[in-house]
Amino acid sequence: MIMRPEPKGWCPGAHRPMQSGDGMIVRVRPRLSQISAAQAKGLARLARQYGNGQIDLTNRANLQLRGLLPDAVAPVVQDLSALGLLDLDAATESRRNILTQPLWQSGDDSHHLTQELAARLNELPDLPAKFGFAIDCGPAPFLSSDPADIRLERSADGGVIVRADGLALGAPVALTDAVGLAIALAHWFAQTAQTCAEPAARRMAHLMPNRAALLPDWAQPRVRPAAPAVRLCPGPHPLGYCAGAGFGQISADALDTLADRAPGGLRLTPWRLLIALGGGGDLGQFPAALGLITRADDSLLAVDACVGAPFCGAATVATRPLAGQLAAGVLAPALASGQTLHVSGCSKGCARARVADLTLVGAGGRFDIVRGGVAWDTAEETGLAPDEISGVL
Ligand code: SF4
Repeated sequence: MIMRPEPKGWCPGAHRPMQSGDGMIVRVRPRLSQISAAQAKGLARLARQYGNGQIDLTNRANLQLRGLLPDAVAPVVQDLSALGLLDLDAATESRRNILTQPLWQSGDDSHHLTQELAARLNELPDLPAKFGFAIDCGPAPFLSSDPADIRLERSADGGVIVRADGLALGAPVALTDAVGLAIALAHWFAQTAQTCAEPAARRMAHLMPNRAALLPDWAQPRVRPAAPAVRLCPGPHPLGYCAGAGFGQISADALDTLADRAPGGLRLTPWRLLIALGGGGDLGQFPAALGLITRADDSLLAVDACVGAPFCGAATVATRPLAGQLAAGVLAPALASGQTLHVSGCSKGCARARVADLTLVGAGGRFDIVRGGVAWDTAEETGLAPDEISGVL
């Protein structure tokens, strides 16, 4: 049994690209989880011209280009600016770590609150790089299982709550005060984390629930969030048409095709799904070569895998070929309905921060196995070769 350290680190941006095993990564944070059709086509062009021809959809509904040569970064950033996809500077980009409920409608609470928080980023304290907000104020929460430290959510009684991640309950807030109190909670975190004996208090959930009693009165948890919404699936949707991207990777050709059929632009989700806004119900007829997922029962939707080796320098194992074989039931019996699998190149677990039924974690060229946990949890079995994995599934 191995106790793993929790993942540390920082996130790439457009102002702050990251070197990876296959070149530079440039990440774009679309505002309100949405891009126009013209922006989507611009990203597809940049991926073809400078990157590896693929665009990643991350688990915070961001998009990233990868495989860039170092001298391609400057022209790419210039083009992103022309497309309206660049923040003013690196500090603003880093602070705008806001995940918005992707089914928001113009003028609703999620829309308003996201815009207000984005306009008040300069009121936030210095926060750890991955510290973020979820704005999830539709009729029912969609983002409860997605990573965020401070959540504005619909409550069970129809109001709005601010909830510190790691607590089951939140504090009721008036809509007009919600953003100000989310910012106040971020200040509370920054001050409390500084005084912690634990060196690793980088996320709200590291402080909760142990320090809930120290929260100010107005933030004390007492109201339950509304029951979670039914998850989105590929297929026709009232907003347009929803399509999936296996392992969160979409080719430039597929992005182009979706953009051509999305008069309202594309809505991005943290679940490897994109909605072609205004796209009609006939969009299910995508050419198979585009690799889009159009069926709700596609087994790839239950499997997460990061890029792995040789594309990430931290990986010692290839991940997606194995994940694809397991999803297809080639190496072992197919996953049962509702089961989730995560194949991670290392214990950082970039592809999935949520618990999976089974997680295979690369280490030293082999795989360790975590059941009912995340990639950085204790492994039950270690050092398995890929051909030994079927025996333990
Ligand atoms: S989880 Fe995967 S992508 Fe993330 S650092 Fe590890 S090997 Fe690289």
